[in-house]
Amino acid sequence: MRELLVLGTASQTPTRQRNHNGYLLRWDDEVLLFDPGEGSQRQMLHTGVSATDLTRICVTHFHGDHCLGLPGMIQRLSLDRVPHRVAVHFPAGGIDYFERLRHASSFHETAELAVEPIGADGQRITLGIGTLEARRLRHPVETYGYRLVEPDGCRMLPERLAAYGIAGPAVGKLHRDGHLDLDGRRVTRDEVSVTRPGQRFAFVMDTGLCDGVYALAEHADLLVIESTFLESEAALAAEVGHLTAAQAARVATESGVRTLVLTHFSQRYADPRRFADEARAHFTGELVIAEDLMTVPVPPRRVASSG
Ligand SMILES: [Zn+2]
Repeated sequence: MRELLVLGTASQTPTRQRNHNGYLLRWDDEVLLFDPGEGSQRQMLHTGVSATDLTRICVTHFHGDHCLGLPGMIQRLSLDRVPHRVAVHFPAGGIDYFERLRHASSFHETAELAVEPIGADGQRITLGIGTLEARRLRHPVETYGYRLVEPDGCRMLPERLAAYGIAGPAVGKLHRDGHLDLDGRRVTRDEVSVTRPGQRFAFVMDTGLCDGVYALAEHADLLVIESTFLESEAALAAEVGHLTAAQAARVATESGVRTLVLTHFSQRYADPRRFADEARAHFTGELVIAEDLMTVPVPPRRVASSG
């Protein structure tokens, strides 16, 4: 199962309709929590995901709307006696903030955190499901966006294997070695399989337009990206290190994104349809204006290609 569960969508301060940020990504056996703002713990209750399900927490930067939910979330891991280690990533320069949030109040600490700060642009973490990569973004404090890249795989075609009379352990050997010698003839893996394109998820939060944004968004099946402002405030957005809906939509188009999720809205705009209208002029793919507690499926895998 691969899907995004939205906990909150407000920038800076919560509103009556929008909680502070918070996003869960369910991806096979990993559940990643991104940027838990205030109230994330309670929002999570509504999604049916429990603290025990969490495997990894990723924080983009230490502005309050992206991290004030950490104390509650970390304490909850201990309260629920989560038996597995939970990895936590955040900008290395913010380690003092992290330690203060982690020990913000007294609790009986039993849960084990694997604290793995991000210290460099392009840092990669190898997971069972693919590679988690962090890219530096442009914001007044040290900020990293993340993307999850599943490697391309290969799917064996039973009818082609049968045509060559390949069965049993020979299939595994062909898969591993890339070829198999059969009665004086060499059969290659490409002849009996198709490429199974890997999927990509990208999370781009709090940034002005920069190379990191494009590096993260490249060919994302699902891109979650901040669009704090509209173009009418483009100058302000650039000044304070944020994106407009039009900029985010153009990035998505130029990067070949399939599903675009806009979020982190400034409370100055009462009508979220304005973000949709602005983005729609620049992006023709699947567009989602995020609402709290919404579920967004990762789109089906791209069509497999031969060989
Ligand atoms: Zn920020």
